Amino acid sequence: MPFTANRDFKIAPRLQTRAEGVYYWNEHGDKILDGCSGLFNVAAGHNRPEIREAVYRQLGELDYAPHFQLGSPDSFELARQLSEITPGDLNHIFYTCSGSDAVETSLKIALAYHRARGESHRVRLVGRERAYHGVNFGGLSVSGIGRNKEAFGVGLPGVHHIAHTWLPENRFTKEQPEYGAHLANDLERLVQTCGDTIAACIVEPVAGSTGVLVPPKGYLERLREICDLHGILLIFDEVITGFGRLGAPFGADTFSVTPDLMTMAKAITNGCLPMGAVATKDSIYKTITEAADEGLIELFHGYTQSAAPVVVAAALATQEIYRREGLFERAQTMAPIFLDALFSLKGLPVVTDIRGYGMLGGIDLAPDGKVGRRGHQVYLRLYEAGLQIKSTGDALMIAPPLIVESSHIEMIAENLKKVLSAI
Ligand code: PLP
Repeated sequence: MPFTANRDFKIAPRLQTRAEGVYYWNEHGDKILDGCSGLFNVAAGHNRPEIREAVYRQLGELDYAPHFQLGSPDSFELARQLSEITPGDLNHIFYTCSGSDAVETSLKIALAYHRARGESHRVRLVGRERAYHGVNFGGLSVSGIGRNKEAFGVGLPGVHHIAHTWLPENRFTKEQPEYGAHLANDLERLVQTCGDTIAACIVEPVAGSTGVLVPPKGYLERLREICDLHGILLIFDEVITGFGRLGAPFGADTFSVTPDLMTMAKAITNGCLPMGAVATKDSIYKTITEAADEGLIELFHGYTQSAAPVVVAAALATQEIYRREGLFERAQTMAPIFLDALFSLKGLPVVTDIRGYGMLGGIDLAPDGKVGRRGHQVYLRLYEAGLQIKSTGDALMIAPPLIVESSHIEMIAENLKKVLSAI
């Protein structure tokens, strides 16, 4: 069981058997409100017939063809559609199988780009404390959540971390804190010791899995400036923030800062089939492809399931739902209602901070002995009360599907209030 207390689970398994809209049903027939869109991926709600039918149709047409040396019209059509919603000249798409793979791919493209332009000395990667960039070795190395790293050795060499953006004076700030842009200057500090050897800096526009840290005003702008000044590529890991979570297609749009590379995954297929992607700027694509010998492979990287036809079909059907139902705009409309509901929990003794942006919220709880014990206890009690959310350590994360109604948001807040008040 991934990221699960296995022994606990085997004593009292939580087995889901069905899902529809914003609800799951478990093996006992209990109805459970999905307060976390699956794992931040089921943005359009569960069991969408459009996706189901597209996948079924695709299985009867072209079940699989490799994407090494072959392509399909649909994978190029999906790339075209994605490049329409990615900002600026992030117009080239490389498909992967998950968010973790997208992160690895983005780091490798960054290194390959510098090499292609004759700057092979740019080999260092910069991540941020408290970041989550998946579970593979590259992503784990640039991640900054200690518990996720401690059992797995030292990671990649040449990796550095800048400071996270949580400041005690910003507690209980809805959306972006006014104070804290200066934290981006930590990248400049690294430039002073590493000189021109830094290839890329990767950040989540809003750090998700650590408990939702919203960037202070001016912070991402300052990171962009420092990267430009020193020839460092800026990578946004939009695996959670992509596809409307913050009320715009991507976090880059929300905060008006365009990175050089952007990862996406999760909601790209509404969570039902595994897929990720990396969007790169035209200039990066051009530099890498033109540096290779004519007629030969330019980037020695890819996955057996890259752009698998069935997954592409699911992604195309998903993107069509987002457009037709205006779900990114809907997220923007619902966000004030959602955030007000979360912030109504301020004042409960166990709640030490609340943060949020768009349809993504985080609540810190006062620890109970060992870190993570209280978070897990609360997670279990909420599940028993009929609400599924995510906990990391002693932080709770709430991110309902973008189709959520006000009545569902009220139910989320009521359940949280009931469980948290009892502590
Ligand atoms: N990057 C970010 C920002 C994430 O939040 C996640 C997963 O939560 C990942 C990468 C890894 O994605 P996956 O679990 O699909 O490998």
